[in-house]
Amino acid sequence: MEWLQLHLLAAPDRADACADALNAAGALSVTYMDAEDEPIYEPGLDETPLWTATRVTGLFAAGTDPDQVQAQLAAHFAPSPLPEVTVEHLPEQDWIRAWMADFHAMRFGDRLWICPTNQEPPAPDQVNIRLDPGLAFGTGTHPTTALCLRWLDSYSLGGRDVIDFGCGSGVLAIGAALLGARQVRAVDIDAQAIAATIDNATRNQVAERVVAGLPDTLDPEQPAEVVLANILAATLVQLRAVITPLVRPEGMLILSGILSEQADSVMAAYESDFTFGPVAHEGEWVRLDGRRRG
Ligand code: SAH
Repeated sequence: MEWLQLHLLAAPDRADACADALNAAGALSVTYMDAEDEPIYEPGLDETPLWTATRVTGLFAAGTDPDQVQAQLAAHFAPSPLPEVTVEHLPEQDWIRAWMADFHAMRFGDRLWICPTNQEPPAPDQVNIRLDPGLAFGTGTHPTTALCLRWLDSYSLGGRDVIDFGCGSGVLAIGAALLGARQVRAVDIDAQAIAATIDNATRNQVAERVVAGLPDTLDPEQPAEVVLANILAATLVQLRAVITPLVRPEGMLILSGILSEQADSVMAAYESDFTFGPVAHEGEWVRLDGRRRG
């Protein structure tokens, strides 16, 4: 079976009109994509920014005649000309399997691995987080997760208390527990992330040491020796007053989800309480390692 996709190349003020036209022609779904390489990272709350050139794509059921759809689109736009159209035939795939086939064991630092559950760990004697791609963020393929995992691998976590603020799949919390942390509190505002963390902690046999919940379950009277927060720069700045008291004096605060050009503003928000070491880079992303002053 084959699906049909029609892509329309639109100027920003025409993107919605293209979406309307595709919907009117019977599209099952319509998506907007960047037609050039122009990322939009953190739109403000009320903004839906569009790129300077947007590719608006309609997905149509198998067997749809592309000529007929184009004729409908042309009629919709008349008397204006139809934007540039490209037609793509999309073979049916088992998407989950296609994704899994691409997901391999990966090593972070000296001994910490993420290994999919359907594969034998390449290094069974090392520390293996067993994890499959799921809906919650955090499979190790994102540079910010990798930066945090490498830090965990490098740090002596034995017997320490850890907080994973913005836990997603729970990957950092589970990594910390497998590396010997005494207790890990993992929090997220997304219920799906909390559920995924509990599930993944159970699969990795660390459920007894990983407690997952909403951020307000954290007690600032019980600070941790290590707090990891891989969220986004703007959120980290907003959360300064929440996160700071969760770090014990002399404890470590590991921040990521930050682009290189945002590093200074995040450090500035935290510098009254933390001394930062060298910035760790991966691609355009950074990790900040701060020690809370005593
Ligand atoms: N720790 C994982 C996931 C990072 S993704 C990793 O390193 O890969 C960031 C997570 O932060 C998401 O799951 C998101 O739901 C959560 N998040 C976003 N804003 C938050 C907030 N204000 N408080 C707590 N969690 C938040």
